[in-house]
Amino acid sequence: MIHTEAATYYTATKKYELSFPSLEEDLDVDVVVIGGGFSGVNTALELAEKGITNIALLEAKHLGFGGTGRNGGQIMAGIGHDLDKVRKDVGDDGVRAIFEISDQGADIIQARIDRYGIDADFCHGYGYLGYNARQAKTLRAWETDFRSLNSKHEIRYVEGAEVRGIIGSEVYHCGLLHMGGGHVHSLNLLLGEAQALVGHGARIFEFSPALEVSYGPRVKVRTAKGTVTANKLLWACDSFLNRLEPELHRSTINTYAFQCMTEPLSDELIERISPIRGAYSDIRPVIDYFRVTRENRLLFGAATPLIEHIPGDLKAWNRALMLKVFPYLSDVKIDLAWGGPMACSPNLFPQIGSLPTHNNVFFVQGYTGFGVTPSHIICKILAEGMAEGSPRYDLLSSIRRASVIGKDQIRPLIVSAGKVWHQASGYWNGRR
Ligand SMILES: Cc1cc2nc3c(=O)[nH]c(=O)nc-3n(C[C@H](O)[C@H](O)[C@H](O)COP(=O)(O)OP(=O)(O)OC[C@H]3O[C@@H](n4cnc5c(N)ncnc54)[C@H](O)[C@@H]3O)c2cc1C
Repeated sequence: MIHTEAATYYTATKKYELSFPSLEEDLDVDVVVIGGGFSGVNTALELAEKGITNIALLEAKHLGFGGTGRNGGQIMAGIGHDLDKVRKDVGDDGVRAIFEISDQGADIIQARIDRYGIDADFCHGYGYLGYNARQAKTLRAWETDFRSLNSKHEIRYVEGAEVRGIIGSEVYHCGLLHMGGGHVHSLNLLLGEAQALVGHGARIFEFSPALEVSYGPRVKVRTAKGTVTANKLLWACDSFLNRLEPELHRSTINTYAFQCMTEPLSDELIERISPIRGAYSDIRPVIDYFRVTRENRLLFGAATPLIEHIPGDLKAWNRALMLKVFPYLSDVKIDLAWGGPMACSPNLFPQIGSLPTHNNVFFVQGYTGFGVTPSHIICKILAEGMAEGSPRYDLLSSIRRASVIGKDQIRPLIVSAGKVWHQASGYWNGRR
């Protein structure tokens, strides 16, 4: 069920009735993009805005079939989970440069929405939440960092009784309010961006999986009923890449996240849950994340903390976690639950670049569960690299891609070991 079509909050509230034909001809283009999620559509749109519009985008199912149509819609600050993990690749100056761009995602999304009139329910207000004094220290440090990057929005650390001013739960000791973050209807955002992309003259093909790709000065992609020949190719399949591109397949490993959607709640209940009508996550290595929606529903999501598995009853599994945070929702009905895979990179940082053997074959993947906002920053930079080149593309593409050995044989074991390590390291990096 997890790899097939998921009925989600997003599909239930989709506002764009966009559909595209499958490829049934032989095309010759400048750029072929494989994958119709935020990565593929955003990079193509960035290229189109630069005047490179002879683009064909191939999507195996429908736009937003992958993580882009299943996520929590959380607009958080940052890129990757821990910039220290890329310090050995890019040095102190590189980390500083990445940090400088790491808060730009929300503004890029807002600019897109404004420029193309996209109806995606962008709502400002984010709460990072902590359970204890160790996490309080981390949140205070984040407050300083976030303020140094963003003076436009209110960013404020809260503790004790003040926490209840941003979140209606007794379980949290502290919080960091960031009014630059928030939440968005990610499928409507994607579809609005896709509509903008075709408005620039690019072509999108749905239900057109790339079946075979050959590299060379010109790349050729074969689908069931057509081909695309192009000067440049972009792989943007994230957790759905499978083995079609073995080198990229080796560089990430999939893990899963799950979420549920409550029935519509009363205004009073929403006011109690979220006085800011915002989005939230705690800051543990494996987070709980949740938000309210425009229709007064609560979306609550999480991943398994240690042992990698797909819970049998997603509604019950998510509900149990939700009730730990909001015990007063025990009578509330869960209308839907769903999940999906997320490609994780060994350094928990998204991967962009071109293949060492083929400099016209580009890729983007491995957001490690944190791709809504980062994809909007990363794909802007990737498009710079694909078009004219840029120092920040050189910087991000210089980050090493390690291989995940054994991922096809013992994936759950590797992910579980990774989670145990990640959880334990949370004690010394202030996230537990
Ligand atoms: C349950 C869940 C919750 C999440 N919550 C959040 C969140 O709240 N905030 C956040 O920042 N991130 C979140 N994420 C992560 C985020 O959604 C992803 O990082 C992001 O959407 C990745 O976008 P993408 O375009 O790279 O990949 P995807 O959206 O997965 O798109 C890849 C596309 O490639 C297509 N494809 C694959 N193979 C082929 C082929 N051979 N030919 C053609 N097309 C192909 C797939 O069908 C798919 O549509 C979550 C992810 C999940 C699964």
